[in-house]
Amino acid sequence: MSANASLLARSLAAVWHPCTQMKHHEQLPLIPIARGEGAWLIDMDGRRYLDGISSWWVNLFGHANPRIGNALKAQLDTLEHVMLAGFTHAPVVELSERLAALTGHALGHAFYASDGASATEIALKMSAHYWRNHGQPGKNRFVSLAGSYHGETVGALAVTDVAIFRDAYAPLVRAGSCVPSPDARNAAPGETAADVARRAAAALDAHLAEHADQTAALIVEPLVQCASGMVMYDPEYLRLARQLCDRYRVHLVADEIAVGCGRSGSFFACQQAGIWPDFLLLSKGISGGYLPLSIVLTTDDVFAAFYDDDTARGFLHSHSYTGNPLACRAALATLDIFEEDQVIARNRATAARLGEAFCGAVGSHPAVRHLRQQGMMLAFDVAGAPPGFARRFFAEALARELLLRPIGNTVYTMPPYILSGAEIAHLANQTAAALEASLG
Ligand SMILES: *Cc1c(COP(=O)(O)O)cnc(C)c1O
Repeated sequence: MSANASLLARSLAAVWHPCTQMKHHEQLPLIPIARGEGAWLIDMDGRRYLDGISSWWVNLFGHANPRIGNALKAQLDTLEHVMLAGFTHAPVVELSERLAALTGHALGHAFYASDGASATEIALKMSAHYWRNHGQPGKNRFVSLAGSYHGETVGALAVTDVAIFRDAYAPLVRAGSCVPSPDARNAAPGETAADVARRAAAALDAHLAEHADQTAALIVEPLVQCASGMVMYDPEYLRLARQLCDRYRVHLVADEIAVGCGRSGSFFACQQAGIWPDFLLLSKGISGGYLPLSIVLTTDDVFAAFYDDDTARGFLHSHSYTGNPLACRAALATLDIFEEDQVIARNRATAARLGEAFCGAVGSHPAVRHLRQQGMMLAFDVAGAPPGFARRFFAEALARELLLRPIGNTVYTMPPYILSGAEIAHLANQTAAALEASLG
């Protein structure tokens, strides 16, 4: 057995891979990655793959980025970790202050964890505990949108509406309520995306009118519901949801784990609606894709509801690695790149080129429906896709030096922000070629 074949066999025996039916690997081999270089992953046989999904949406500025790497090396020699109960350190303070400033101090208090699902759990717990501290313990239910995804721990599954992730565990979950998604694809002839948003907001209004007394919070993925298939919608929905949450005294949680950090075209997606939520969740891109880190940003009002002599009125969530200095340092280096390279402005040009390239490559393909884009996210649906399309496309793309993993019949890209013109062309052209091959 070659060294690689042996590594693959050992991985299948000893490593339980995520989001995977392990038996499928009898047909579809694992890919042993040796190293990364910018937007490319390089395997142990020297084959290269353009990372068209930023390694599950986390990597913003390429692999082995020297600026983030050097910041981490310096932090490693100074302080790798210290517990955050009773102690503090410069990276966590500086990161909290910089994020607060990015929200114009609307969200001036940062709570830390390590993964996105935990950020969801923390926001739900904080919201319900806020109402309890305000003498309304009955406000402890949650509302999410149809097709929502907020993570897969048992608490987060309560607000995740993706059948494949939820059905097997449904008996463990205290499910929340679902209201209609403002999915712009639901526009009737003559209707705009904003009309669909107003229709969905009317349904939210009706739900809250009846259930506000039991409802702690509405949780949404602003502008794009990513995991259920890159569902895009008009910012009007966020404006109306903010108004309705204010009117019915319900918190608004903006899960920007996927769409935050410039992905949507602004640093926070909520900025495009001109609103701030009561809780804003970050993870994935915030550390540049280097280390696990998640952050719940919240308001003075929420913070004040917990500030008391009584420990039991304080927020109770203990996580060993809260505010890990290395992860915070990676996030600070990531924010430095945003500032120094004016990434939001530069991404506008990159996103325009990405859109043009895909329009040219697949825009007139007879199977392509709803080609759509929001900042550095681009997707289309494939009509008449054969069963097993997603896995077939994945393999066909890999054979063309491209990493893309469709969600069902939706092909999408969420690339690192550093793509060159040649890389954009490769991404679009090889997507078209892989599409043709997987339909044949
Ligand atoms: C990925 C994701 C999560 C969960 O984050 P994990 O780190 O995978 O637990 C939650 N919400 C959204 C919108 C996500 O895209």
